[in-house]
Amino acid sequence: MTTIAFIGLGNMGNPMAANLVKAGHTVNGFDLMPENLTVAREHGVVVMANAIAAVKDADVVITMLPAGKHVLSVYEDAAPKAKQGALFIDSSTIDVESARKAHSVAKKHGLLSIDAPVSGGTGGAAAGTLTFMAGGAKDAFAKAEPILKPMAGRIVHCGDDGAGQAAKICNNMMLGISMIGVAEAFVLAEKLGLSHQALFDVASTSSGQCWSLTTYCPVPGPVPASPANRDYKPGFAAALMLKDLKLSQEAAQSAGAVTPMGAEAAQLYALFNAQGNGGTDFSGIINFLRGNPL
Ligand code: NAD
Repeated sequence: MTTIAFIGLGNMGNPMAANLVKAGHTVNGFDLMPENLTVAREHGVVVMANAIAAVKDADVVITMLPAGKHVLSVYEDAAPKAKQGALFIDSSTIDVESARKAHSVAKKHGLLSIDAPVSGGTGGAAAGTLTFMAGGAKDAFAKAEPILKPMAGRIVHCGDDGAGQAAKICNNMMLGISMIGVAEAFVLAEKLGLSHQALFDVASTSSGQCWSLTTYCPVPGPVPASPANRDYKPGFAAALMLKDLKLSQEAAQSAGAVTPMGAEAAQLYALFNAQGNGGTDFSGIINFLRGNPL
């Protein structure tokens, strides 16, 4: 079994670390928030005084942090203190440029590294069914795969350094755009006197079919498990969708890609968030499109 340092024990990190403990690993954890450390301790994580103490004896270091600046600051502090040849896995969702910088910090200190953001949300983190999309060298990925397994439903090696983050933001840009498209269609159907169920029955088996419709339907009724049936309680919060859409637009700008629908989706989610809806599920944008408050 492996000694793993886990830095960032928030909504995602804590259940992920708990699954590593369940798999028999020793998990040395650190977070800046004392209440998250209390939860971690209850899950069997060995709570450490700081990131450096957590990393010192670890063979694998996993970070699950809010943004690129947090990841780079932990890497700068911890990489020089890590064991030679240790593997650094960053599962946060961050910009591709910071992800590549994190890889070079790791390399400078003789460490292996992969970027491995996830999809599947807090439910997937608790159930150990996250999809990991990994970027990095083949030897680093090979070493990471068995470590990720207890937290994963699926693990995909997407390519070199940063490829995992690239896959994550491309996927979530599609998701943001498709949710707005599905929501607009339901709003139009309402105005045309077409029932939600009738539109769902047709579109779910026609060319309009997509995940935003069939798994995450933004109106209550057709898909009983979707957040629309519980007052848009997340799920996947609109603030996180906005974060990912902004990352997609930064990446599009620096790579010279034309993404007008992604840009529009980012603007709509920015307005939705500015109206105080950041903590609601992202499918709640349908109320914004109707002109209604949630
Ligand atoms: P969160 O805010 O609940 O957790 C982040 C944790 O990092 C916090 O507990 C914070 O105290 C800690 N932290 C910040 N700086 C630190 C530092 N220097 N040292 C130690 N701890 C530090 O966020 P989350 O929902 O767990 O998300 C984590 C990452 O996963 C984000 O990048 C997010 O975009 C991504 N993500 C989240 C979801 C989701 O549904 N919540 C889904 C997929 C991906």
